[in-house]
Amino acid sequence: MQVKSNAHTHTSLCDGLDTPAAMAQAAYRLGFKSLGFSGHSFCPADGYGMTAERLAQYCREVLALKHEYQGRMAVYLGLELDSMSVMPAAGQFEYLIGSVHNLQTPVGRVYPIDAAPADTAAAIAEFGGVAAYVQAYFAAVDEMLNSRPVDICGHFDLICKYNAGGRFFAEDSPEYKKSAAGVLRRHCRKGAMISPVFEINTGGMCRGYLRRPYPDYWLWEILRDEKAWVMVNSDAHAAADLAFQLAEQRAAAEKFGLKVVTIDEILGY
Ligand SMILES: [Zn+2]
Ligand SMILES: [Zn+2]
Repeated sequence: MQVKSNAHTHTSLCDGLDTPAAMAQAAYRLGFKSLGFSGHSFCPADGYGMTAERLAQYCREVLALKHEYQGRMAVYLGLELDSMSVMPAAGQFEYLIGSVHNLQTPVGRVYPIDAAPADTAAAIAEFGGVAAYVQAYFAAVDEMLNSRPVDICGHFDLICKYNAGGRFFAEDSPEYKKSAAGVLRRHCRKGAMISPVFEINTGGMCRGYLRRPYPDYWLWEILRDEKAWVMVNSDAHAAADLAFQLAEQRAAAEKFGLKVVTIDEILGY
């Protein structure tokens, strides 16, 4: 039986469309067993992370929903931590998703990875070419996973968001594959107890940017070889998108031979 669950959920308190209550209600109506909220942490480099005041409201509202749905649907208080944001106090959240959304170029400017193709083009120019840009992205993912206690690695190859059709770089080039595979393999090899769970994120598909989830299918081979755990998440920014491709990608991952878990299993419930 398919366990319905999503652990990557945004709300109107960061860059989502619907309130935490509306997201919880939609998840419950969809028959979810659990729903994990993962609002964006405050990051000076972007404009959508939750300020201290917003964050306090977010915690209050999610904890109230946890109480309200007790016994019917598990609600978890998580956070999507950006690699450039300040670490929250230990124990404040039930789990952390670690994500790289921004990159600093050699001249010190910070560009979002997933805001607009024009930013990608500008960042590539400042890095002096795609090779350095790609390398810097995966180095940032590597550094984040080395230095932060994240439970889930968010959208591992987000750098491909605007790269459909190879618009900016060749994803099948040996250089690209080496950068991506090297970091993924390294963090799978830390041992099941401390390596993060890698999410299979359907957000880029849902919003029409890509026809495959993050990470791309060729990277699934590494996840399988290294016996990593994966979690299928929708990265929903609206109630209507909560369940997008969750069942399909879970079935595909299991058929492929991946170990698929839900947030309930990670948190020990
Ligand atoms: Zn993200
Ligand atoms: Zn997200």
